[in-house]
Amino acid sequence: MNRPIASVSLDADNLWSYMKTHGDTGWESRPTYLPTFLPLVLDALDRRDVSVTFFLVGADCERDENRAVLATLVPCGHEVGNHSYEHEPWLHLYTPEQLEREIESAEAAILEATGQRPVGFRGPGFSWSPQLLRVLHRRGYLYDASTFPTFLGPLARAYYFWTAKLTPEERTKRSALFGDWKEGFRPITPYRWSLGEETTLLEIPVTTMPVTRTPFHLSYLLYLARVSEAAMRAYLRTALLLCRTYGVEPSFLLHPLDLLGGDEVPELAFFPGMDLPGARKRELFDGALVLLAEYFDLVPMSVHARALEARRDIPLRVPRLALGA
Ligand SMILES: [Zn+2]
Repeated sequence: MNRPIASVSLDADNLWSYMKTHGDTGWESRPTYLPTFLPLVLDALDRRDVSVTFFLVGADCERDENRAVLATLVPCGHEVGNHSYEHEPWLHLYTPEQLEREIESAEAAILEATGQRPVGFRGPGFSWSPQLLRVLHRRGYLYDASTFPTFLGPLARAYYFWTAKLTPEERTKRSALFGDWKEGFRPITPYRWSLGEETTLLEIPVTTMPVTRTPFHLSYLLYLARVSEAAMRAYLRTALLLCRTYGVEPSFLLHPLDLLGGDEVPELAFFPGMDLPGARKRELFDGALVLLAEYFDLVPMSVHARALEARRDIPLRVPRLALGA
């Protein structure tokens, strides 16, 4: 019998987008760590022979300084997804026309830089809207991956507001950042969004722990690793065992700061977990990959999506935002 699969994806959030969200000046020239970060992660993945999906930001794909390294992703056996053009985590405030422009311009830039047209989308900061899903469907996307079913979104938002330098207007715009606590009631297993007139779009949520709905993506695991590596491993093993018990094939999420330390990106020293050196983070990353591979065959997101497409028992859901309360 085939082993169950887990998809692995990395949201290639760049230095400038963290600076922008944090309210730092100088982000407009799009400072980048992609030329140093991507070779490190490619090397770490190659060591374990794992192929993943890199969700790329369109604006990064148009910068000369990122070109050479972005061109290596697909030849190294990985695939690319669309992570918007501007990485603004309030796509739910966009008009349908703005959404169309955002998705289309990112798609063109990603294709030009990597040679591959993305078939999947993840909204920045897990932002999405029913209109966005319609744009994706119309443009022939295979799946969306923008939902994050946890009750902890507002906690992440509170922490972010506490550390960021923002005007009242900027705070209003960001008021739904990382989602409402009601997001925790969304399914953790994939389903189809029903978009009317018999059209649907596959949704692959970022998997949270069955039962507790607490996150187990690597950024979260690193918090635990700072307490103890044994605690981190025990927590990840519990999450994976619960996934196996409940028949959940997880979608496992990575971010650049999971592998980069404060020693390598001093500009982001304010970010949680940046007190760990990069080399230590990459050791922990390798350990997490080995543990994941003990329970699941690791695949990129489109392989996960196509396996789901072949199944008939995927439930339908009507898209509704769970914002504000
Ligand atoms: Zn992002």
